[in-house]
Amino acid sequence: AVGGLALAGCSGDRTGGSDAGSGEDVDVSELTIGVAMPTQQSERWIADGDNVKATLEDLGYQVDLQYANDDIPTQVSQIENMISSGADALIVASIDGTTLTDVLQTAADQDIPVIAYDRLINGTENVDYYTTFDNYQVGVQQATSLLTGLGVLDENGEETGVEGPLNIELFAGSPDDNNATFFWDGAIDTLQPYLDSGVLDVPSGQTDFEQAAILRWLPETAQERMENILTIIGDTRIDGVLSPYDGLSIGIISALTSGGYSASDLPIVTGQDAEVGSVKSILAGEQYSTIFKDTRLLGETAADMVDALMHGEEPEVNDTETYDNGVKIVPSYLHESVIVTADNYEEILVDGGYYTADDLK
Ligand code: BGC
Repeated sequence: AVGGLALAGCSGDRTGGSDAGSGEDVDVSELTIGVAMPTQQSERWIADGDNVKATLEDLGYQVDLQYANDDIPTQVSQIENMISSGADALIVASIDGTTLTDVLQTAADQDIPVIAYDRLINGTENVDYYTTFDNYQVGVQQATSLLTGLGVLDENGEETGVEGPLNIELFAGSPDDNNATFFWDGAIDTLQPYLDSGVLDVPSGQTDFEQAAILRWLPETAQERMENILTIIGDTRIDGVLSPYDGLSIGIISALTSGGYSASDLPIVTGQDAEVGSVKSILAGEQYSTIFKDTRLLGETAADMVDALMHGEEPEVNDTETYDNGVKIVPSYLHESVIVTADNYEEILVDGGYYTADDLK
C-alpha cells in the first residue's frame, strides 16, 4: 500500500472519474486488479503479464492474472470470474476485440473501470482507456525494414535507385485483432509506391488483407500459406516477405527452407516483438528484422492508468483521436516501437536491459 499512497500524495489535480475513493486515503492493498491476457504461446504476452503484475504489486495492489489460451469463451469466463470475485479494475488484452461487449457491460454495471491493453476492444462504450504502441507506425517500420533489407532504401532511408522488380509476399495478422489492420495499413501505405512503380511485385497476386491475414496469428497457418504460395509461383524466387509477427516469421522461414531456400539465401523476412527465438534467428542471418515493443513501458502505463483511476484521478493520455472502437474514441497512451536488426540488437535489447547477452546465445 505504501507505494500507492506515496504516489497519490505526490500527484497533481484530481479530476474525478472513479468512485473508488479520492486521494491519499485509498488503501490500495485492499484492491484487486484483474489482468486478462490472451495466450502463453507467445513470449511477448508472458512478459506483458509479468510486467503488469509486478508493476501493480509494487504499487501495492493485489493482482489476478489470467491467460486464456487464445480461446474466446475462456477469456470471457475469466473476466466474468474476476468481476464476481470483486475486481476493482480490469486490464484486458483481448483475443477478439469484438466479443467482450456483454461481460464489459457487467463490469460497467458495477462501476469497474476497464483498460484495453495493447489491443483495442471494439463495439462497446465500456472501455475507459487504452494503452498500446503506435500500431500504424509499427507497420511503417516493418515495411521500411523490408525495403532496407531489399536494398531499395539505404540505411538513411534514402532510395538507392534499385529498379527491380523484386518479388515480395505479404502476410497480415489476425483479422479479429484490431491491431492487424493498423500494421497492414502502415506497411501497405509504405510499400504501395514501389508496387505501383514496379520496383516491387507480388508474384502470387495475393495483395488483399483478407488473403494475407492469419487467423489467431498461428505460426502453422502462416507456414501452410507460405507453402501454398511456393506451389503457386513455382520457380520464381522470392526476395522478401512482409511478416507482421515473429511467430509467423518462424512458420514462413520453415516453409521457405523446406521449399528449397538454403539458410544463407533466405528472402528478407520481417517480424514483430523481438522474441528470443527470432532474435537468435536474426543473429543467425535467417530472419532479417523485428520490431521491438518494450512491454515494460506498456505494463507501467497500464498500471499507472489503473492507479490514477483508483485515486480518482484522470490517467495521462497522448492520443485522443486515433482509436475509434465503433462506439467511441478511446483515449489512449501510445508508446514508440523500434526496428531491430543484427546491427542494433545489442544496443536496443541487451544494453537496454530487455535481454541479457546470455539469453540470446
Ligand atoms: C500485438 C503484437 C503481436 C500480435 C501477436 C498483436 O496484437 O500488438 O505485438 O505480435 O498481437 O501476438
